[in-house]
Amino acid sequence: MKNVVPIIMAMLALGHGADRGAAQPGNWGKTTTQKAEFHAASDVPRSQVELTRRWYEIASGAWGNYGPLEFWIVGRNETAARELDRKHCGIRKKKDPSISLRHCLNRGHNFVSYAKGGNAGLNTRRNENEKWSGFIITMSAKYPGPDEEDYKPVVLHEYFHVYQHAHIHSRKDSVRESLNQENPWWGEGGAEYMAQLLYSKQKGVRPGYLKETMKRKLRSLKDLHEGENIRNIPYGRRARISYDLGAWFIAFIISKSSEESYRIKFFKELNSNGFEGAFLKSFGQTSKDLLDEFHNDFLKLDLEEKMKIIP
Ligand SMILES: [Zn+2]
Repeated sequence: MKNVVPIIMAMLALGHGADRGAAQPGNWGKTTTQKAEFHAASDVPRSQVELTRRWYEIASGAWGNYGPLEFWIVGRNETAARELDRKHCGIRKKKDPSISLRHCLNRGHNFVSYAKGGNAGLNTRRNENEKWSGFIITMSAKYPGPDEEDYKPVVLHEYFHVYQHAHIHSRKDSVRESLNQENPWWGEGGAEYMAQLLYSKQKGVRPGYLKETMKRKLRSLKDLHEGENIRNIPYGRRARISYDLGAWFIAFIISKSSEESYRIKFFKELNSNGFEGAFLKSFGQTSKDLLDEFHNDFLKLDLEEKMKIIP
């Protein structure tokens, strides 16, 4: 009987369109046939929407399709971004009538700030107060822009965050935070390495791409203080170190176990065993021991030795 329920829900979701199926409590973390929605500001070229969609298809094809997911693409024009904000808040209100329209429009990091500052981001909505659970990815016109190569791995990076957060079922902030870790080394390191790894395997990407990219990330080594552990670096001014060396840490644990141990086993064990339990089960060591080995032994190796773990 247990297996019948998700199938019926999936059928309902198909029948009604929108988000019904995936928004049901039992569906979080399960793959869905429901594709992401795409919304773009009026100054965003069609080609950028299609580029974003193509890389979303590659990511969801490789890691599974999770949702509900919305992509919001902002251009450089601030008036158009403001208009997109209004559309966004209208959709938020439609999907969850209990939210405040004014609160949504006045939120801190809105689309106008993306038009001004560029960048990309994922907003996971899953908590005890809101009815709608889902993912909102924002892409913009700069840092990276659609003409930069980096735009493609960045779409994959944001989507890997969707994968990570889809595998955390709780609505409690404290639980969600502990399973993904508060500091960026784990979540960002994973998203960054998996994105670059998947990108490097795509047709047309030059053979040395992954090694070149990972070598560049080692520049952050000089910013790591003597005896400092990446686990203790918070978001903010020095977070770059955790993105870069966190990506190396994921490459390191994959080299000691397997890609499957990281991407499948760990996330499967996460809800029932907690972060440390899932870590131990998947990699056979505590996170402290593996981090110590990473800092004290691996990072001390010369460049050529380090590069050997990068495929
Ligand atoms: Zn990220």
